[in-house]
Amino acid sequence: MPDTRPMNWARNITFSAAAVHRPATPDALRDLVARSAHVRVLGSGHSFNRIADVDENRAGALISLGGLPAGIDIDRAARTVRVGGGVRYAELAAQLHAHGLALPNMASLPHISVAGSVATGTHGSGNGNKSLAEAVRAVEIVTGNGETVTLARGDDGFEGAVVSLGALGVVLSLTLDVEPDYEVSQHVFRELPFQGLDFEAVTSSAYSVSLFTKWRGPHFDQVWVKQRRPLPVDFPWAEPAAEKQHPVPGMPAVNCTEQFGVPGPWHERLPHFRAEFTPSSGDELQSEYLLPREHALAALAALDGVRDRIAPVLQVCEVRTVAADAQWLSPAYGRDTVAFHFTWVADTARVLPVVSLVEDRLRDVDARPHWGKVFTAEPARVAARYPRAADFRALAERLDPDGKFTNTFVSHLVPRS
Ligand SMILES: Cc1cc2nc3c(=O)[nH]c(=O)nc-3n(C[C@H](O)[C@H](O)[C@H](O)COP(=O)(O)OP(=O)(O)OC[C@H]3O[C@@H](n4cnc5c(N)ncnc54)[C@H](O)[C@@H]3O)c2cc1C
Repeated sequence: MPDTRPMNWARNITFSAAAVHRPATPDALRDLVARSAHVRVLGSGHSFNRIADVDENRAGALISLGGLPAGIDIDRAARTVRVGGGVRYAELAAQLHAHGLALPNMASLPHISVAGSVATGTHGSGNGNKSLAEAVRAVEIVTGNGETVTLARGDDGFEGAVVSLGALGVVLSLTLDVEPDYEVSQHVFRELPFQGLDFEAVTSSAYSVSLFTKWRGPHFDQVWVKQRRPLPVDFPWAEPAAEKQHPVPGMPAVNCTEQFGVPGPWHERLPHFRAEFTPSSGDELQSEYLLPREHALAALAALDGVRDRIAPVLQVCEVRTVAADAQWLSPAYGRDTVAFHFTWVADTARVLPVVSLVEDRLRDVDARPHWGKVFTAEPARVAARYPRAADFRALAERLDPDGKFTNTFVSHLVPRS
């Protein structure tokens, strides 16, 4: 019998549920939650581990909110937008732009759901840009008995409720801050050597900077520089690319957002990948480690020492910066951050030993793994890197006393008392 169980985007995870429930109304969702003993929500499925999964031995309901009405409600006077728990950034961004509004930043792709992204601490790039969760000002959660709880900025526990790992309940909606629409221009530069790198100067040279290396030599192969108009681009450290680039070797550049400084709306420049095309390579695993920005060069040197091991299983590595935030479980919590991201080949057996090696090399620089990607670090070590982990546990026990919404992945990392 073929295995018909649902899978994640990368197809490296087969979920333990036989099927995904897609309630069509909020009432149907509440009813399903209330009568299920164990519940997890699946966003757009772009995580690379079992974070979204139900536990195999608990007959749980895996629920998608993709069948609910999208619910994108803009409040221009309050400068906010309320988005349903199943909405993807592509849809949200297009609507905001149509209303002359914008978000402060986006991840590398617009295909991901807003609720799933903020639940894992997803981020874009920029020394002054915080993780996407920081735009959230209120979260509406359906708890185990089907009732709704809203936590807003300023409420007790709010900083634990956005980067939730899906463990507090079903996020029915999020209210986000928005700002006036703006334009961005994007330039790509080639060949930036590690030698003599002024990391702070490079990453602060524009609104968002991404550095890509294949670890085939001590240099970045590409630098993506995104500047908010009308600010100029001044990048004296490398030569502009002569042709349009894709960061992943061998992938068509048409999949990527416009380059060569052609100005365009924020949501068509801040992501690297265009909404209508496959993002990244589509055949891959990913890992990412977020560490204090002052350790950027030490981490670069530590990884350069094992580049011969990294390169054979790597498609591309991206280095970005993220500003410190206040979300308890955000990998950028409390510290200006540099993120080392790895797009690996789609071969778990070959990749995992190298993931462990990378973690070993980054052991002394307090690296926190991205919650939605592949990592091998022991759960206790990961939790120890979050000073507010105990507060998150207390919040989870308050909102979900029966543990309906936790799963093995989450409870290993943040055990309940
Ligand atoms: C090609 C690619 C590029 C990526 N680029 C970036 C990047 O630039 N920056 C970055 O930081 N990450 C990046 N990621 C990782 C990605 O942003 C995260 O894995 C993110 O969580 C994906 O969102 P999702 O909706 O697919 O979440 P899922 O994987 O579906 O779920 C993630 C978590 O959110 C929970 N969840 C989802 N919806 C709800 C809800 N309504 N209520 C309660 N819980 C919910 C799930 O239970 C789960 O715990 C990338 C991933 C891919 C595949």
